[in-house]
Amino acid sequence: MTGAYLPGNSTVVLKEVAVPAPGHGEVLLRMKASTICGSDIRCIYHEHLGKGPEGYQGVIAGHEPCGQIVKVGPGCRRFGEGDRVIVYHISGCGVCNDCRRGYMISCTSAQYRRAYGWQRDGGMAEFLLAEEKDLIALPPELSYADGAQVACGFGTVYEGLEKVGISGNDAVLITGLGPVGLATAALCRKLGARQIIGIDVVKERMRLALDLKLCDEVLASGADNVAEVRALTGGQGVERAVDCSANDAARATAIRATRKWGRIVFLGEGGRVEFNPSPDLIHDQKTIFGSWVTSTWLMEELVERLVAWKLHPADLVTHRFALDQVGEAYALMASGRCGKVAVCFDEEMN
Ligand SMILES: [Zn+2]
Ligand SMILES: [Zn+2]
Repeated sequence: MTGAYLPGNSTVVLKEVAVPAPGHGEVLLRMKASTICGSDIRCIYHEHLGKGPEGYQGVIAGHEPCGQIVKVGPGCRRFGEGDRVIVYHISGCGVCNDCRRGYMISCTSAQYRRAYGWQRDGGMAEFLLAEEKDLIALPPELSYADGAQVACGFGTVYEGLEKVGISGNDAVLITGLGPVGLATAALCRKLGARQIIGIDVVKERMRLALDLKLCDEVLASGADNVAEVRALTGGQGVERAVDCSANDAARATAIRATRKWGRIVFLGEGGRVEFNPSPDLIHDQKTIFGSWVTSTWLMEELVERLVAWKLHPADLVTHRFALDQVGEAYALMASGRCGKVAVCFDEEMN
C-alpha cells in the first residue's frame, strides 16, 4: 500500500509499504477520509519541531483518520468487519488514571502512549492499523469526512465549550478562524449562542466564516479589536471567548474583550500571551480555562449530538485530494488559504 511521510522540509514523500496485519485487540481500517490539522503543519511539515507528545517519529502521517474495518484481529470485543469508525487519535496505555478517564491524550505512560501520525502510523495511507479501544462508532447519518474531524477538530472544540458552558445568554468571541475556529462557531450556533464574533487575518477564512453563516460579525485582526468587540456588545464585551489562534496579541484580545464574570478558554497551541492580571482578570472576576483535545466518552456524546443537530463537520472541508496528490494538500493547508483540507478515498472523493 502507499503511505505518506513528512520529512520536515515542506514536502511529502510517498512510499510503498506492506499492508499491516491486525494483532490482538487490533483492527485494519480501509481509509476513507484523513484530514490535515494545523499541528501537522506547525510541528512536522515545515520542520520537525515537536517534542514529547508532539515528537514525530518518521511514521505514516495523519492523525485525523476515519474509515471502515476490513479485518479484525483476535480478542476484539465490540467492532467487526464492515463497521464505520472514527479513530481517537492518541492510543494510550489504557490503564493509567488519564486513560481511565478517557483522556488518552494525556496518558502518562512513556512506553505505551503513541499518537497516530506522530509515533505510530496514521491515516495518510490506504490502510490503517488501529486498536479497538481507540475506536468510536460512526453513525450512518455522518460521512467519513464528518467523522475525520470529530476527534481532533470538533472534539477539541466541544471539550473546551463544555468547560466554559455556552447558552443563549452568551455573545462569543472566537480569535482565529482556521478549521478549529470555524468548528467553534458551528458548535456555538447549535449550543444557542446569541451572537458570534470572529477575528482573523486571512481574508479567505473571514469570508468562509460569513459565507457559511457561522459568524455574525467578522473583524480583521488589529489594535482596535477590543474596542470593536465592545462596540458590538453594547459596550460590555462578550460572555465567552475562545482562542483558536495561539497568537499572543489575539489571546490578549480574547481576555480583554471578555466582560466581567466572563470565561475564556485557550485551545490554540504554542506561543505566549502577556496581560495585566489585576485589571484584565482579577478585578473583573474572569476565569481562563485551558483545554487539551477531548476524551473518548465526550467524543461519543458529540457524535450523538452532531446527528441530532444535523451538523456536518464536512461542511468545513473546502478541498479534497486523492492520496497521490497529498503533497498539494499539505501545501494548501500550510498556505492557510482554505478551510479544512482532506485526503479522501473511494466514495468520499465524490
Ligand atoms: Zn489535530
Ligand atoms: Zn495511559
